[in-house]
Amino acid sequence: MNEHDSEKISWILDGMGYEITDNREESDLIIFNTCAVRKSAEERVFGQLGELKHLKRKNPNLLLAVCGCMMQREDIREIVLSKFRHVDIIFGTNNIHKIPQLISRHLESGKTIVDINEENREIEESIDANRKYSYKAFVNIMYGCNNFCTYCIVPYTRGRERSREPENILEEIKLLAKSGCKEITLLGQNVNSYGKTLERDYTFADLLREVNDIEGIERIRFMTSHPKDISDELIECFGSLDKLCDQLHLPIQSGSNRLLEAMNRKYTREDYLNKVAKIKMRNPDIVITTDLIVGFPGETEEDFRETLELVKEVKYDSAFTFLYSIREGTKAANMENQIPDDVKHERFQRLMDTLNEIGLEKNEKFLGKIVEVLVEDVSKNDESVLNGRTTSGKLVHFPGTKDLIGSIVNVKIRRVKTFTMEGTVV
Ligand code: SAH
Ligand code: SF4
Repeated sequence: MNEHDSEKISWILDGMGYEITDNREESDLIIFNTCAVRKSAEERVFGQLGELKHLKRKNPNLLLAVCGCMMQREDIREIVLSKFRHVDIIFGTNNIHKIPQLISRHLESGKTIVDINEENREIEESIDANRKYSYKAFVNIMYGCNNFCTYCIVPYTRGRERSREPENILEEIKLLAKSGCKEITLLGQNVNSYGKTLERDYTFADLLREVNDIEGIERIRFMTSHPKDISDELIECFGSLDKLCDQLHLPIQSGSNRLLEAMNRKYTREDYLNKVAKIKMRNPDIVITTDLIVGFPGETEEDFRETLELVKEVKYDSAFTFLYSIREGTKAANMENQIPDDVKHERFQRLMDTLNEIGLEKNEKFLGKIVEVLVEDVSKNDESVLNGRTTSGKLVHFPGTKDLIGSIVNVKIRRVKTFTMEGTVV
């Protein structure tokens, strides 16, 4: 979500005549688009802001702005305003479209401009995005979240759930398709509840079916999908829509029912496993990935073992794993029995070992197979090697020339590792 917001910010700045540079020393404007999901990300931002003090001193014309989820929190804004006085502009997740105005307000007044919008979170349709690749694109379908998982800050920083009108989404995707885009990733904190705020009866599955009909689009992905809301209608799409990729990111967070309840996830381990079984029945080739939190307050060794068992049972191809991070303002922050860091780290390592072992095993199944790969880029280390992704989201490296970038090619898999595969075009 943040990455796509950065693409939108970049589009606005482009329109103002700015150009992207990798060199901080020569920048006229530096914007930090922040994430508040974990404390470590926040600490990195503070570190970086501190480092920029000397650059501001050297180049007083340099403008420094901070935006994103961290800025939606008053306590964090206070820290930035008091400790990092060299910051010129602070704006929130709903004010991206106001950047030109905020810059001129700062230039006119010379003061730090703070612009946060907590009440009016109307969807802003006027912003496009400067996408990194022409052949794949993120498209927002909804904003905010109503779930209030007890560990999570997102509902506080992104506000309540609201869906974009299907016409606007479809129009954006049609334009992307016309300009050569082949792969779309539909974005929302919980795409399964897409449509609930619309006046008419319209579901996420309805949207998927319409996107599937758009000429030129060849692959559809989406994230994220909350297990409690994944409907039979959506599961059915995995069998009926030819462009829907063989991949589903379905965050479980924990394998323990006790913890799932404490997290307010509103499903049990059994509900989850039933849904996974149904999905696998509909599409036996599907690759399922997940998010897992280690060290949620009160997590016992037994709870953690249940997570490990579940990981082995579902056989995830890969997972995003997180050490539980206390987020002030959330319910879990005040729970007793916070888990000591050393215990968290030890469990985290065991979880990684299990996931890596399964990941390699799953990749080995691709050995000798021919897979369709959307070619994305040349390898950083070797210009003669390309990389791209299968419909199941696996990263594949293979020899080839730049002109293949953006096309879909058949690759025979000859070697696999835990996170990547290697092959040759056939
Ligand atoms: N809306 C998405 C996820 C958004 S946050 C969903 O519900 O799946 C992405 C992931 O960050 C979450 O799935 C969770 O695993 C992790 N996360 C969120 N808050 C966290 C916290 N306080 N500590 C550690 N991980 C957290
Ligand atoms: Fe956070 Fe839960 Fe909403 Fe995902 S569904 S954004 S984890 S509150």
